[in-house]
Amino acid sequence: MRLRRDALTNIDYSEAKQRLLMALKNGSIDEYTPIRMKKGYRYLDAERITSLNPVIVRSLLEELADFGKLSRRIVHNLVACPTCGSTDLQLLLTCSECGSTRIKLGITYQCSNCQSYFLKEEIQEEERIKCPKCGVDRPRYDKTGSFYACLNCNSILVLPVWRALCRSCGLLFDQEEAGIVELYSYSLPESKMHESTYEAILNYFSNEFKKAGFSASREDTLKGLSGVLHRFSLIVKDNGDEKTKLVIDIASGTNEVDERYLLSFIIKVRDVRAENSLLVVTSNINSKAEKLAQKQGIHILKVKNKTLQKNKLKPILHDLLIRMTLKTET
Ligand SMILES: [Zn+2]
Ligand SMILES: [Zn+2]
Ligand SMILES: [Zn+2]
Repeated sequence: MRLRRDALTNIDYSEAKQRLLMALKNGSIDEYTPIRMKKGYRYLDAERITSLNPVIVRSLLEELADFGKLSRRIVHNLVACPTCGSTDLQLLLTCSECGSTRIKLGITYQCSNCQSYFLKEEIQEEERIKCPKCGVDRPRYDKTGSFYACLNCNSILVLPVWRALCRSCGLLFDQEEAGIVELYSYSLPESKMHESTYEAILNYFSNEFKKAGFSASREDTLKGLSGVLHRFSLIVKDNGDEKTKLVIDIASGTNEVDERYLLSFIIKVRDVRAENSLLVVTSNINSKAEKLAQKQGIHILKVKNKTLQKNKLKPILHDLLIRMTLKTET
């Protein structure tokens, strides 16, 4: 069930939409997921970020998804009342024969003469002496076990069926009559997700190294011994002696990082005499390349998940900082 866009009049929500996208890009939110409320579902994160009401927020998320800025993923199929559309429902057991909710679980007895079923309370007094159905004298009643009986249509041995009671309008309905609401979560599309992951990783390292007293520049070049200019995703220098303490590159794309790729990175690193280096790998790295990296002291950071995990970056940062400060002191 999509929301009607014309309900939004002509107000320009482009700033709100930008905020929704930014929160995903900078990693403060992984995805907008619907949260179960007393009545219906809401996108609380998105509402907080935009300070807009639930109806507008939902429609903005839908609009961003329609334009390919976000991708939708079905979280639930919600059952809704076919009359009023409410999802505030109560499940009830009902009689399969007449639909009544007046059913009762009890021990049933069967007349050995006519095979009719009775509940215990139906064969209490004179019925003990005469079967109420076939009239046989002093019938034998066999206990048959616990079954549902309907007090409305007097069927015994009913197979109870689930029906939903709408708490809004009181309608009782079954699965065939039910309306379905598809409930989505919204996140960045795969390609954008990678971009934002790189962005977040470089931001993180850049900020942390600056905090530690280094200078850091993004997408910058260094002139190598050979005279060639090499571009790196992040260059970290000592503020004092201008030594290149660390270079970071991101091996983006879907191709596997092999030893040839790694070798070209090593040549760049050596040519600019960087003391440390880190290669961020988002696809796969083969074992030969991994061994080569180990031998040459190249740090490798594998980022498989689409969302950034800061706790994965911390140990690498820590290790790099130790190396970078040690070398300054010697
Ligand atoms: Zn019934
Ligand atoms: Zn009988
Ligand atoms: Zn209803």
